[in-house]
Amino acid sequence: MPPPPTERTRVRQRGDRGTHDLAAIHRILDEGLVCHVGFVAEGQPLVIPMNYARAGDRLYLHGSATSRVVRTLAGGAPACATVTLLDGLVLARSAMHHSVNYRSVVVLGRATAVEEPAEKVSALRAIVEHVVPGRWAEVRPPSARELEATGVLALPITEASAKMRSGPPVDDAADLALGAWAGVLPLATVPGAPVPDPALPPGRRVPPYVSAYSRSR
Ligand SMILES: Cc1cc2nc3c(=O)[nH]c(=O)nc-3n(C[C@H](O)[C@H](O)[C@H](O)COP(=O)(O)OP(=O)(O)OC[C@H]3O[C@@H](n4cnc5c(N)ncnc54)[C@H](O)[C@@H]3O)c2cc1C
Repeated sequence: MPPPPTERTRVRQRGDRGTHDLAAIHRILDEGLVCHVGFVAEGQPLVIPMNYARAGDRLYLHGSATSRVVRTLAGGAPACATVTLLDGLVLARSAMHHSVNYRSVVVLGRATAVEEPAEKVSALRAIVEHVVPGRWAEVRPPSARELEATGVLALPITEASAKMRSGPPVDDAADLALGAWAGVLPLATVPGAPVPDPALPPGRRVPPYVSAYSRSR
């Protein structure tokens, strides 16, 4: 069942583009790479970009145990995590009808600190695998000391909304005869050619999970 559209997460402008369908929310979270985490610390609103992973109905975040975002969220501060996928620029015939094609999610809630070592490792694994699927198995896992120095947070995805736009520009009928080009310029996160670390032994092959990397889910 989708989480109930609480008054706080009811999409107001262009509500037809909003949804509280959990599967739709999960798809967007699973494709994104960066979430912007908002909170208030000492009266100052902050929005900090972070990597993340979704595991079931929770978002895992991590950072230095001493960082402000980790300390503030672990202390139970209200938080907001936003993930945006920019799919295209929508070029209309009038300035006012320009738009963007996008899929985005806003999650509201309070995070809790993940303290139990096995869950901490599992959350860090989820974050690594979310960013680069297949990576965890090839690399050294965190040491006890690294785990100690790292704060891991779990934010429940229980009060969340998604919003999306797709398709061509929506011009006024009277503007359709204007000479301006109109349409969509698609945008996507696509990898460039891998750049090997100079310290790698010569001839080391690029693993398939790197050479075939894609964000499309
Ligand atoms: C794509 C991306 C992914 C990231 N993923 C993570 C992650 O998963 N975990 C993590 O801990 N950190 C991540 N970071 C770094 C993160 O955004 C913060 O820089 C870090 O958490 C700051 O911690 P702090 O306590 O030192 O700074 P804070 O006390 O939070 O910030 C102090 C001041 O530093 C400035 N500042 C802090 N961060 C940034 C920033 N990113 N850009 C510009 N100014 C900034 C602001 O002026 C802020 O007021 C990521 C950054 C990017 C861009």
